Amino acid sequence: MPSSRTDLIILGGGIVGAGIARDAALRGLSVTLIDKHTVGWGTSSRSSRLIHGGIRYLELGDIHLVHEALAERAILLRIAPQLVHPEPFLFVLDRAEYWQWFRVSVGVLLYRILAARHSLGSHRPLTRRGLVQREPLLAAAPLVGGALYQDARGDDIGLVRSNIAAAKSAGARILEETRARVRIMPDGVEATLPDGEVVTGRALVLALGPWTDAVRAEIGLADRQLVAGTKGIHITFSLQRFPLRHAIALRHPDDRRVMFCLPEPERQRVLVGTTDKETTESPDTLTVGASDVAYLLRAVRHLFPQLELGEDGIEDRWAGLRPLLRQQGRPSGRTREHLVVREGRVVTVAGGKLTTYREMAEEAVDVVGEVLGVQLGRCVTAEVPLP
Ligand SMILES: Cc1cc2nc3c(=O)[nH]c(=O)nc-3n(C[C@H](O)[C@H](O)[C@H](O)COP(=O)(O)OP(=O)(O)OC[C@H]3O[C@@H](n4cnc5c(N)ncnc54)[C@H](O)[C@@H]3O)c2cc1C
Repeated sequence: MPSSRTDLIILGGGIVGAGIARDAALRGLSVTLIDKHTVGWGTSSRSSRLIHGGIRYLELGDIHLVHEALAERAILLRIAPQLVHPEPFLFVLDRAEYWQWFRVSVGVLLYRILAARHSLGSHRPLTRRGLVQREPLLAAAPLVGGALYQDARGDDIGLVRSNIAAAKSAGARILEETRARVRIMPDGVEATLPDGEVVTGRALVLALGPWTDAVRAEIGLADRQLVAGTKGIHITFSLQRFPLRHAIALRHPDDRRVMFCLPEPERQRVLVGTTDKETTESPDTLTVGASDVAYLLRAVRHLFPQLELGEDGIEDRWAGLRPLLRQQGRPSGRTREHLVVREGRVVTVAGGKLTTYREMAEEAVDVVGEVLGVQLGRCVTAEVPLP
């Protein structure tokens, strides 16, 4: 029977697993990453691609998360300018929200303060006229005013592939479309591959996004119910049908949740999303429900009535499952913070966002160092450019 030895086995090749593989390999560990699909197939190719502090998390009082994510935004802009770019956003408020204008104006200023020296440009309140001057397509919208703020957008699957490429050049072994049978032993971990090869690792990291609890149960770890996924869908229109120039943040007219209309000129399309709903669906077989599509359409029709956007104009649609930490309360009110849990030789990483993946990876690899009982080298992922 073929066999191999490695310091670290990582299960899951989404952005978090890919980031961990790169970090660990750059710190000198031998790494084998295994994904049952192709890397990035899961949540990490289905995001809104915002590399952001998350202006709406200010409302939830999640100041720590916003501050941390804004620092990560600055790092990604520096190490991956080919994949992440700054983008100005217009936060628009409709007439029913006139009382929110002061709040949003203070919010964008606070956002800028939290970004500190990483701030990307002008943050300020705008009148209705100011909004329409910047985005003429808003001329027919029932707006009272809004605000300008600065954020960034990125290529989610591009970031996964780039981290994987960097991990490979640092010596990591990447196995895609591979279902491994994992066994935890007193002194290490064994992963048996479909061809019979047994990979023995000294530590195991689980970076499984919404699959976390299911796989933990499969390999016999304690039932901790770490993750409660919420489903988010996106729809796209061609730029020709929806000639939007500016990224827009808006509150949905039904429930006042923040959502986005995001022009992607490089793909000749506008991305509209997203929803945030509890679901019992498996992440393997997610579906895009008609009521979710209708919800997004109501928001775009409310803001851009003259375009008469409907089902027939939708070019693409998809669903993803956010691997949020399990918490009480409304899905959109749940924290985007993360958790790194150590149980013997197993380290589980749960929660988080695309934006904070690098920091999650750094924390996870620090814990792997403790598991292995070695002094690892300094983390350099905030300095070394991504390929
Ligand atoms: C609709 C939506 C919009 C979002 N928008 C944003 C945004 O704009 N900005 C932001 O910062 N974040 C955003 N997020 C959150 C972000 O996308 C996720 O936090 C992130 O992608 C999760 O990455 P992950 O690596 O933890 O999980 P995943 O990307 O899901 O990776 C898990 C991997 O595990 C693999 N796997 C599963 N089972 C096994 C097994 N048994 N063996 C081996 N491999 C296995 C899967 O194939 C998958 O590749 C959004 C999420 C959603 C759903």
